[in-house]
Amino acid sequence: MSDEETKETGTAEETPPKTEPVAKAPVRVELGKGSFTLPYVLPSRGVLYGDKCPGGKTVIHPIRGEQEELLAGAGDGVEATPVFRHVLAQLVELGDLPYESLLVTDWTALFLNLLAFSYSPIMQFRPRCPHCKKFFPKSVNIEEMEVKELDEKRAAEWVEPFKTPPLPISQAVVHFRLLRLSDMIQAEDYARQQESNQMVPKSALHTYTLAKHIVKVNTEEMNILTAKSWVKDAFSKDLRALQAEFSKWETGYELTPEFLCVHCGALFRARLPLDGSFFRAASSGNGGASPPTI
Ligand SMILES: [Zn+2]
Repeated sequence: MSDEETKETGTAEETPPKTEPVAKAPVRVELGKGSFTLPYVLPSRGVLYGDKCPGGKTVIHPIRGEQEELLAGAGDGVEATPVFRHVLAQLVELGDLPYESLLVTDWTALFLNLLAFSYSPIMQFRPRCPHCKKFFPKSVNIEEMEVKELDEKRAAEWVEPFKTPPLPISQAVVHFRLLRLSDMIQAEDYARQQESNQMVPKSALHTYTLAKHIVKVNTEEMNILTAKSWVKDAFSKDLRALQAEFSKWETGYELTPEFLCVHCGALFRARLPLDGSFFRAASSGNGGASPPTI
């Protein structure tokens, strides 16, 4: 039985550490003189990486022609992500942390900062209003996006597996972990297999990534197969509550910023396309941004 299980329930253990969203520039340190690198502190502060990446301190090297060639050829949608992963692996220093052990949220933060550092933090998008269905141009500044950073004073509470309160319908208590890059790679492989079986890849990916979080339900230890069937059988309301618990513990960028429709005035949230179009929006500099500083 883990320490966490032996604690009393309904107390501070279920209050997630405060990671108040703040709109501000990513943590940056002065650029070293004559050094074209960007020291960058991960939103998770490296707390879940043991002693492999102390303080979450990393170094980003800017994109050069060699990587740009790869990125420019990346398609839209999920097929672009292996290219992004490959490029980022070449350009970040993570101390002793194996690249695939990065939290997905830290990886995304690194990628956004790589783009901002190499090109410009300002990107131009054409979101589609869900109300009037019209498109309109809008720029997003990476340095002004909401970032949830770990409150280091409460880092000691950041221990996996985390535990949910009883879920609203089944009353199940779920013990869970946060996703690493290696989980996403496995999930994409899985989705591709399902695609060849002519199933809907996106929904397969959704179930699989939910299941990948789950370590234990009540007292039953889970593996990916048992977790997947638990997810498929679970009530939607419980799954919503479970996902809300995940996000309480996750750090990183808010990838669904709010937009105000210029046509009908509706306020809506839209997910930023982290695919080839995102890279092109950054590298084209069409957001009125200043030229790269390198
Ligand atoms: Zn509209």
